[in-house]
Amino acid sequence: MKVLVINCGSSSLKYQLIDMENESVLAKGLCERIGIEGSALTHKPTGKDKYVVETAMPDHSVAVKLVLDALMDSEHGVIENADEITAIGHRVLHAGTVYSDATLVTEDVKKVVRDCFDLGPLHNPANLIGIEACEEAMPGKPNVAVFDTAFGMNMPQKAAMYGIPYEYYEKYSIRRYGFHGTSHMFVSGETCKMLGKDDAKVIVCHLGNGASISASIGGKCVDTSMGLTPLEGLIMGTRSGDVDPAVVQFICNHENISVDEMLTILNKKSGLLGMTGISSDFRDVRKASEEGNERAALALDAYRYRVAKYIGSYVAALNGVDAITFTAGVGENSWEMRSEICEYLGYLGVEVDEEKNKAAIGEQAVISTPDSKVKIIVLPTNEELAIARETVKLV
Ligand code: AMP
Repeated sequence: MKVLVINCGSSSLKYQLIDMENESVLAKGLCERIGIEGSALTHKPTGKDKYVVETAMPDHSVAVKLVLDALMDSEHGVIENADEITAIGHRVLHAGTVYSDATLVTEDVKKVVRDCFDLGPLHNPANLIGIEACEEAMPGKPNVAVFDTAFGMNMPQKAAMYGIPYEYYEKYSIRRYGFHGTSHMFVSGETCKMLGKDDAKVIVCHLGNGASISASIGGKCVDTSMGLTPLEGLIMGTRSGDVDPAVVQFICNHENISVDEMLTILNKKSGLLGMTGISSDFRDVRKASEEGNERAALALDAYRYRVAKYIGSYVAALNGVDAITFTAGVGENSWEMRSEICEYLGYLGVEVDEEKNKAAIGEQAVISTPDSKVKIIVLPTNEELAIARETVKLV
């Protein structure tokens, strides 16, 4: 069975075609700048050369058609026709409290995703466009929505509730949902397998452009740092993470801007970008810091401190921890950041083997010493495979 996994952003579409017989990737790729001048498809068939198509992509429907063309291309393709694709799995951000487990797409699922546009303004509209584009290009094929909230929706009520009047939960389902759920589910599950322990207490640090952290027991969520939207929690590339809500009122009043404008600032102009004024990209900020930029150094200091503080609170939530696993762009690649975060964790008996840590770049490894009281692990996330596995379960 071959499953096409689609992950649509507002101007991008990432895809992977996975052969689920052996979970091998047949091809993967990315459409960039959809709806913007200069759009391009980069297609990487496994075992063949990379293939780039620079052509206008006015919308996601055109992008989906280009993806199918590339997959079936006589030279660069990996399948002969679209009938070889059994189902399509879509990453979808938010469906409120109505849907959280992976589900076959129906008219009602699409309606709920649409109703939740205000909860996921950056992602939900793009996710829906991707689903509709696939329905149009491959009529009759099952589409499966895999929600980013799936993992967090199972956290206990005490972790999910905000300390605000209960009526807002009843009226609008205002609660903590958690995001990056597919990644946390995959990485915490794989960590349990690595430890050979079904009920392992695991903290996963998903440190990418978006960043979040979760605490789980046996792969079941106990707590996770993102909230009603993916804004809460850690300091991210462009997102602030936790702030006192009074900051919003203060800045709105003093700068004469609306709450919506302030939320855009917190989502798109804050985090590493806002703190440094340099870049949202971790590598750029690291480089600036090494060149003596004090704001860049401060931003990194605040970034690692926030992660360490969350780890401490999650050790309390779990009443102990067996493993702390680093994943996503920064977590998989920056040995420096892993080392700096672990410096805060001496009280847990954490000991990092710096040789192993430096060697673990983008690959699965245990980087703690044999004597360390907690295993420190690097584990590349694979959201696409997790989505494909969920899709197979439903079709
Ligand atoms: P992601 O959202 O998971 O793709 O992660 C993107 C983030 O990972 C960006 O901030 C990148 O700067 C960071 N990143 C990617 N590769 C590296 C690397 N080799 N060293 C440090 N950071 C990296």
